[in-house]
Amino acid sequence: MPHTIFLGLGSNLGDRENYLISACRAITDMEGFETIACSPVYISRAVEMDDSAPSFLNMVIKGQFQYTPLELLTSVEKIEKQLGRKDKSDHQPRTIDIDILLFGNEAFELKRLVVPHKKMTRRPFVLVPLLHIEPDLVHPLTKRPLSTYLKKKDRESLILYKEIGFNHVHS
Ligand code: ADP
Ligand code: MG
Repeated sequence: MPHTIFLGLGSNLGDRENYLISACRAITDMEGFETIACSPVYISRAVEMDDSAPSFLNMVIKGQFQYTPLELLTSVEKIEKQLGRKDKSDHQPRTIDIDILLFGNEAFELKRLVVPHKKMTRRPFVLVPLLHIEPDLVHPLTKRPLSTYLKKKDRESLILYKEIGFNHVHS
């Protein structure tokens, strides 16, 4: 049975917009996946990184996925590699980061994959685009509306960069 899933995308190295567009295309082409919606792109200061790290472009994609969470992880990691993501360690700038935020209403912890994503409720650059697509989303574990995790000043810390839009993804 297909699950509604949300992916968080981020880039802060090189041609960031182009990496996001390429990732959107590759995600839309994934086996067993159908894109439902793409959020606008937001720009945010790099956190958990060196002060000199370039700012991030972030967005969220909503879709339907037919297979298992680990199969989704394998597919998105393949895309990260194709788009030049080097090592996955220690908060270095990255061409593309693709995180699984939500997988239906599931909640589980595996060695390679924790769903819902552990840090999503603390990250305005995830919550703002996520809630743009679906304002009423509820956290599967805490049952709290995700909007309650977002403070006004955090919402205002993000700048709208631009809409990428479906046409761009499919062109
Ligand atoms: P972050 O996204 O927090 O900056 P990384 O992209 O470097 O960190 O990922 C570190 C590890 O997190 C990956 O090797 C992956 O196995 C693991 N991981 C755990 N949960 C998730 C998730 N929900 N989505 C993506 N990766 C996850
Ligand atoms: Mg990641």
